[in-house]
Amino acid sequence: MPTLILPSYLITTAREAPKKNWGVRVIDDRIDDIGPNDNLEAKYPDDTLIDATDHVLAPGFVNAHVHLYGVLAHGIPLPGADQTGGGGWAFLDDFWWPLVEDALDHEMICAATDWVCAEMVRSGITSFYDILEAPFAIPGALLAQKQVVDRRGLRGTLSFESTERVSPENGQIGLRENADFVNHCRAERHQTLVEGLICFHTTFTCSAEFIKQAFALGEELDCSVHMHCNEATFEPEYALKYFGRRTLEYYDELGVTGPRMQASQCVQLSEREIEIIAARGIRVTHMPLSNCEVGGGIAPVPQMLARGVTLGLGSDGYINDFFEVMREAFLIHKAGQQSTTVMPADEVFYLATEGGARALGWDNVGRLAPGYQADLQLIDAVFPTPAAPYNLYDQLVLWRNHTHVRDVMIAGQWRVRKGEVLGADLGAMRARVHANAERMWAKVK
Ligand SMILES: [Zn+2]
Repeated sequence: MPTLILPSYLITTAREAPKKNWGVRVIDDRIDDIGPNDNLEAKYPDDTLIDATDHVLAPGFVNAHVHLYGVLAHGIPLPGADQTGGGGWAFLDDFWWPLVEDALDHEMICAATDWVCAEMVRSGITSFYDILEAPFAIPGALLAQKQVVDRRGLRGTLSFESTERVSPENGQIGLRENADFVNHCRAERHQTLVEGLICFHTTFTCSAEFIKQAFALGEELDCSVHMHCNEATFEPEYALKYFGRRTLEYYDELGVTGPRMQASQCVQLSEREIEIIAARGIRVTHMPLSNCEVGGGIAPVPQMLARGVTLGLGSDGYINDFFEVMREAFLIHKAGQQSTTVMPADEVFYLATEGGARALGWDNVGRLAPGYQADLQLIDAVFPTPAAPYNLYDQLVLWRNHTHVRDVMIAGQWRVRKGEVLGADLGAMRARVHANAERMWAKVK
């Protein structure tokens, strides 16, 4: 049954001004038409009508980098371990690797995935890219995770972060986990919104041969290849010490840089590295909140945008409310560059939606226009001060939060109505995450 959604404002893409009293028509999983509310009502009198007066209809947020399992580490006790560790080796070696990643099993992963999917869709996130880092949970971890995501109905790319940190053999099992999953999702593509890609960790946990193998696999399967890149000073310093050049120069020399490359973080970049990213068409994800958490620095995002780099935003599994992520992206570069004009609200909203979709290689998501996927959200627009097309992006980015998201649709299906995540028993889901966090934390205690 075709549905008309008639809001007070429509954001088709944040590259354009919001349209007052415009709406959309949805048929099946797609946007069929857009136009002034009056015209749509006259044109399609038999459609189901959703009155969204006093709401903004916008594309759903694209969380372009998350670790769903990360919720299990929220509040973990850390006797003697330094959580921040200057953003480098200590954070990983003393804390994240032994106490979090290495402890994960399928039940922990599934409990966390279910909870965070609900949390994300509740805050208007309709699609995401996840990186699972759990060397002792393979094989089969991605398939277990996919079942949960399918049930929640989110659109997502799931990946396993293969690494030679544990052993070369474990690295091979990790690559195979990804390749098998890519093929599995393709075989099921008419029944699922989930897909895969090839993912490896970094230049300091993977050998040159392994990295080349990952890219060869990406080429063979014609999919993206993802890695974490220069999250702090540690990686470029390591690359300089062991390879005689910085991280992206090293990748360039290995012959793997190009549009297939999806590099997350990119915080500590030299001028030359920014040039390589722009020239090779490397896609980037920016995570301002977790950059602060690990003391990694301030990513040169305005500089990359000025060079035309395709860039999205991610929560990194740290704080998964995308309004918080947008606010930090809006604020941190103003502080960093001592400028009030850098990273305006419309740019930030674009990165949170269409920019993220492009960064993940999706060309039919992130915009509300005919032919695009019906991934959308209705946000309460009763602000304390008058809203207008000229200030609407500021109103949304600065003065809304997840509680203002009323309804969320993914691929034409309602997943949140009146602020309730449909089909989710949040109490039971929370209890399950609790029990699994207790299990993980017992190792620390
Ligand atoms: Zn990450």
